[in-house]
Amino acid sequence: MFDYHNHTSFSHDSDAPMAAVIESAIARGLKSIAITDHYDPEYANPLKDTAIDLDQYYAELTKASETYQDVIHLVKGIELGLQDHVTSLLADAVKAYHFDFILGSFHCADGMELYGETFYAGYAAEAVYQKFYENCYRVIGKYDQFDVMGHVNIIDRYAHRIPAFETYRELVEAIFKLLIEKGKGIELNTSSIRYGMGERYTPTVEMLKRFREMGGEIITVGSDSHRASEVGSDIDFAAELLKTLGFKYRTLFQDRKPVFVSL
Ligand SMILES: [Zn+2]
Ligand SMILES: [Zn+2]
Repeated sequence: MFDYHNHTSFSHDSDAPMAAVIESAIARGLKSIAITDHYDPEYANPLKDTAIDLDQYYAELTKASETYQDVIHLVKGIELGLQDHVTSLLADAVKAYHFDFILGSFHCADGMELYGETFYAGYAAEAVYQKFYENCYRVIGKYDQFDVMGHVNIIDRYAHRIPAFETYRELVEAIFKLLIEKGKGIELNTSSIRYGMGERYTPTVEMLKRFREMGGEIITVGSDSHRASEVGSDIDFAAELLKTLGFKYRTLFQDRKPVFVSL
């Protein structure tokens, strides 16, 4: 099994030592994990210190991948926080290191954090979704130095009300079209299960179906763990779900190139 989204104490929202995360993955019998700590420059909430020492992070990743190479394959990853005004910072980071796998994720939109109230105040749910997905489409249109879009519908986790898919389906399809044209994928992020979101997965079944119907093939599976105990959680379930939806492969990455493995 493979878990392509894990955080360690290099992330502002995790205290898990990298070694503990890797040991947990080994104990659970995982063959490979991607460590994908946050690089979220100019995060919209100044009270959260999202700074990361990328030199130190990359050095520790490299060291760990050598230390554990006979036991587990470590994928050197990163989760970029996509925003309009930070694309050149992100591009610089991508150029400076030799990452195997890059998640591009939205944690902010229109200069506001998605967590909390600011992004939602004064807007009907339909309008919130409209402006969220418009923001994603715009940023992905101008920045493409990533491999897979993380947790596409993260907005479902924070919105006060989730409108019908029909009201924002075209925007999601436009994003999928962009991703597919650019040779990028999406992830099935199992954290929604831990968040108690029931059968509203990240992405939803409707979204996963549309992605596949539109010709999308690149899909990674990740727990988005922030604690060692969460590594690998619901990964088997996610693989089964993808199978039932007609996906034939999950995707791994090496040197930023997709590798397809049967489900
Ligand atoms: Zn994220
Ligand atoms: Zn994450």
